Amino acid sequence: MPKRSLYPQTSRHPYVKKAPLKERTLQVVGPYSYHQQESWPYVSGRQQSPIDIKETQVQNAQQQLLPLQLAYQDLVTKVYDTGMSLQAESYGTALLNGRPFTLKQFHFHGQSEHTLDGQVFPLEAHFVHENINGTLGVVAVFMTIGQENAGFQEVLNNYHTFQKNAATHIQCLLPQNLSYYHYMGSLTTPPLTENVEWYLLKEPVTISLEQLHTFKKLYPDNHRKRQPLNQRPVLFYQG
Ligand SMILES: [Zn+2]
Repeated sequence: MPKRSLYPQTSRHPYVKKAPLKERTLQVVGPYSYHQQESWPYVSGRQQSPIDIKETQVQNAQQQLLPLQLAYQDLVTKVYDTGMSLQAESYGTALLNGRPFTLKQFHFHGQSEHTLDGQVFPLEAHFVHENINGTLGVVAVFMTIGQENAGFQEVLNNYHTFQKNAATHIQCLLPQNLSYYHYMGSLTTPPLTENVEWYLLKEPVTISLEQLHTFKKLYPDNHRKRQPLNQRPVLFYQG
């Protein structure tokens, strides 16, 4: 089966305004309250994110998908508050199912937005990419409590004392094993744009309890509720 057939012909959502390439950043509209999610503006509703990944419904797609290749630079150009999350920008590229994407930004949600068989993680990182056609691809990483995470600490430090192009061990925010779940969904903040390709890494990374508390002081709860799957396939690639 040709790889392209997994995705819609025109991936850019018609409701997203096309900005000139160099200005095309993924700005959050709002901020909107996580306590009033029912009032968030919506343009569609059948392919929303996040979802619960149910192992029994996942299709093994070893022949259909390709390994993820992530090449991020170990620095952040800025770290800021979008009003809905702590967001950082860096440089990087990714091959998502064999197609080149550029890293736009990464940010964090607490608690996790996606769940694995109902299991909630303390945090979830989203690495947001865009390709030349304007298609969005998000690599999501679950974060669980364990050893302190040097990369996450550098992001937290940079938020408090901003330093441009600060060395940041982004690799620490990615697990060693890149096995992933893949499905078509949406942004999880307004405008909730659909036709977003999701790549959820199965293996979590760790952060310390203290790091979680530091994040929670900034964002006590910034997760969107889970959305119905509506018969969408969820694929799995063993990396
Ligand atoms: Zn997000």
